[in-house]
Amino acid sequence: MTWIVKCENCGNIRKVYVSYNIKNLTKIYIYCPKCRKNTFHIIIEKQ
Ligand SMILES: [Zn+2]
Repeated sequence: MTWIVKCENCGNIRKVYVSYNIKNLTKIYIYCPKCRKNTFHIIIEKQ
């Protein structure tokens, strides 16, 4: 699945490829290449 997520820390929007089922979540804690650390990301769109 391809999800569009927004970093809560810097506002960077990007696509992430998710292989596991987290459809009930509204936020995920993943690595942000702009912040160069793990941050919370808001899930904007699920494709
Ligand atoms: Zn960020």
